[in-house]
Amino acid sequence: MTNGTVYLVGAGPGAPDLLTLRAARFLAEAEIVFYDALVHPEIVALAAGAEKIAVGKRCGKHSTVQQFINKRLVDAARRYAVIVRLKGGDPLLFGRAQEEIAALEAAGIRCEVVPGITAALAAAAEIRTSLTQRGIARSVTFATPRVGATEHPSDWASSLAATDAGAIYMGVGEAAHIASTLLAAGKPAALPVAIVENASLPNMRIHYMTLRELPQLADARITGPAVILLGPQFTAREGIAVFAEAERCRLPLRKAAG
Ligand code: SAH
Repeated sequence: MTNGTVYLVGAGPGAPDLLTLRAARFLAEAEIVFYDALVHPEIVALAAGAEKIAVGKRCGKHSTVQQFINKRLVDAARRYAVIVRLKGGDPLLFGRAQEEIAALEAAGIRCEVVPGITAALAAAAEIRTSLTQRGIARSVTFATPRVGATEHPSDWASSLAATDAGAIYMGVGEAAHIASTLLAAGKPAALPVAIVENASLPNMRIHYMTLRELPQLADARITGPAVILLGPQFTAREGIAVFAEAERCRLPLRKAAG
């Protein structure tokens, strides 16, 4: 039997109806799905006929080692025709997709990537603030201070210092470190910061502050995934928080036929 194809599919930031139609189509066709813990259950349920396997850090007591995931994808491709690897947001942004692609390529297995809406875009949408703005922000940097144990240290701070606007992923636990590093790199203490937690989901929360105040973020008791947006355009605007708490009207996602 010939090998199957592995589709690395972006599930978007959380809300099921922010999934692409292409992602929904591959889920409906999938025979087996490996999904990350942050992916909404309604999205996983679209893979009506598939065996569904949770992988990723938040679902078990221990992290599922990346190498193990790579191996399972390769094994699955030897047994099934349509394999979906479902990842939060976009697979190619802070998603470790390259390691999976490399493992599949090394094993001679076809793979395809389906892009998804990344968290920073959903966060900007929530606060109705453009990531780029004429005359204010002509560059945006996606960055994270987080590096893996075996990785080289990264120069995330200087790229953020040199850019007009920034979106920091996986940064909430390191808010104090981020603030002191960026202040030392020359960012102004009054630089506006907006933190969007659970962007696109009903339990979304927005926190506005300045770079100087960022270390106090620990007090906000953020429990969900959050993006830290920094730049001159991210000042608090009236009506945003009220809007956030309002009941949202969303089209229900019709379950794919099995
Ligand atoms: N590939 C994903 C990012 C994975 S890293 C993407 O493109 O979005 C995980 C980080 O993404 C979290 O620590 C958080 O910073 C961010 N994130 C994921 N979902 C989010 C959400 N709904 N709201 C805010 N931030 C989110």
